[in-house]
Amino acid sequence: MKKRNKNIQNFSKILNSFFNLEKKLPAHHYKKVKVKKGLAELGLFADEDIKKSQLIIEYIGKTLSDKEIKKDPDNKYIFSVEKDFNIDGSSKKNIARYANHSCDPNAESEIKNKRVFLRAIKNISKGEEITFDYGEEYVKEFLLNKCKCGSEKHLYHDK
Ligand SMILES: [Zn+2]
Repeated sequence: MKKRNKNIQNFSKILNSFFNLEKKLPAHHYKKVKVKKGLAELGLFADEDIKKSQLIIEYIGKTLSDKEIKKDPDNKYIFSVEKDFNIDGSSKKNIARYANHSCDPNAESEIKNKRVFLRAIKNISKGEEITFDYGEEYVKEFLLNKCKCGSEKHLYHDK
C-alpha cells in the first residue's frame, strides 16, 4: 500500500514537471507577453504583472554591418547597437519588435554584450501595453511629428 502511494507521488511529480515545462516561457522571453492591437498597429502587452527594473524580452535578429543596413533604408526594425553592429529585428520571431514607441514609456532598451533587451522602468500591470522610447533619430525619421503615443508632451518634436 505504501509503495503504491509512493508511485502515485512520483507520478504526480512527473506530471508537475511536465506541466511546468509546458508553461516555460519561449526563448528570449523573460516575462509573459502577448501581441495585439496597440497604440500604433500591433503592440506588445504584458500578460502578467511586471515589476520595475525586471527584464521583459530580448530583441533578436540577424546582425548586420553599417554597410548592409544602408541597402535596406526602409527597414524600421534595425536596432543600432554600436558602430558597425546592428540587429535586424524584422523577423516575426522577434516578438519584441511589436513594442511601440511612446514618449512616456514604461520600458527601456538596454544593450549588454551586444545584445538588446527590454527592461521595465515602471511597474507594468497585466494587460498594459509595453512601450519604450525609440530615440530621436527614429522618431524624426519615421514618426514625422505624428506620434500616436497619447502622452501630453511628445519627445523630440519641434527641435
Ligand atoms: Zn509621443
